[in-house]
Amino acid sequence: MSHIMNTYARFDVTFTRGEGATLYDDAGKAYIDFASGIGVNSVGYAHPEWVAAVSQQAATLAHVSNLYHTQPAAALADKLCALSGLDSVFFANSGAEANEGAIKLARKYARDKRGEGEYLIATLTNSFHGRTMATLSATGQDKFHQHFDPFLKGFIHIDAHDVTALNNLPDNVIAILAEPVQGEGGVLPLTPDYWQALRRWCSDHDALLLADEVQTGLGRTGGWFAYQALGATPDVVTFAKGVAGGLPLGGLIATKHCADTLTPGTHATTFGANPVCCAAALATLAILERELPRLPAKAQRLNEALTALNLGPVRGAGLMLGVQVGPQVRDVVQRLLHNGVVALTAGADVLRLLPPLTISDAELDKGITILNQTIKEALA
Ligand code: PLP
Repeated sequence: MSHIMNTYARFDVTFTRGEGATLYDDAGKAYIDFASGIGVNSVGYAHPEWVAAVSQQAATLAHVSNLYHTQPAAALADKLCALSGLDSVFFANSGAEANEGAIKLARKYARDKRGEGEYLIATLTNSFHGRTMATLSATGQDKFHQHFDPFLKGFIHIDAHDVTALNNLPDNVIAILAEPVQGEGGVLPLTPDYWQALRRWCSDHDALLLADEVQTGLGRTGGWFAYQALGATPDVVTFAKGVAGGLPLGGLIATKHCADTLTPGTHATTFGANPVCCAAALATLAILERELPRLPAKAQRLNEALTALNLGPVRGAGLMLGVQVGPQVRDVVQRLLHNGVVALTAGADVLRLLPPLTISDAELDKGITILNQTIKEALA
């Protein structure tokens, strides 16, 4: 490990394999996974259909670049448009890159319509949009803003949840970028009222509503996209993390009226629409199509278990749940790992759970039992 750059506060565990929602370390110890590799392994580990799809595509055509068409990319774009109700997809490789694409689309859309000089994008306090320079500039949390200035100009941060503050938003705002449930910020859902107010403001000002569904998208919150439960459709939705069940794929889906903004030569990425990643995503979505009807019961079970810990209100939606534990949350996550549950933090003091959406009832129950014992011993 000594030759890996020291950019992560890694836990001292080496995982060697996984099956279902269970991970195994190099000593053979089993762990119930309540993290999904930070929301990625939506169909767990080594799902036979996923493995078959990836293996077959790898053995057939792994990469040709975006200078040509491929069948997996075309089929996946059709599927994502059908699931979102939007019209056109650009494929990238990660969440940050997906949001970079959305930011570029919004800037060009405004320039095409309004001319030069209007480029202001509003994002929300407590938001997280990625680690590239543009997405860091968009992110509304100061702790990510150390060390790396100067930032890209053209972003303002507005108070998440404050509908009346929208009245003061300058007319030269060309887009609003927001997560329907703020994940890294502490698992904080936007209310339907607030989301609809963002939509209204954008429609009234010919600005674009950009939904960052990198963490919430593709089944995580119970529906295909979190905005679908909030009563208003964005102009652009970004996705990544769970879409391909463990391989790097991200992108954006846009509605007709802005989808033609990005024209040949204006945006590109070599690995985008990689056939193996697209085949993985098609298999992932086919598995999730069968799994999603079972998700509400599992989500309720986990929600009730977290509520019973009496730590405070449980936040989130579907299998994206968080509860405030306090500043000792990293210690709690460390103890959970020791006792055989992989969990996450969010913000400074929130325990965040993102289990695979395919987790079995037995795995869920086992994880909940360990969670109960560990929280009691940690907070005793
Ligand atoms: N947007 C949101 C809402 C996220 O949660 C994340 C990652 O946690 C990102 C963007 C960045 O994604 P990536 O790490 O794939 O670049």
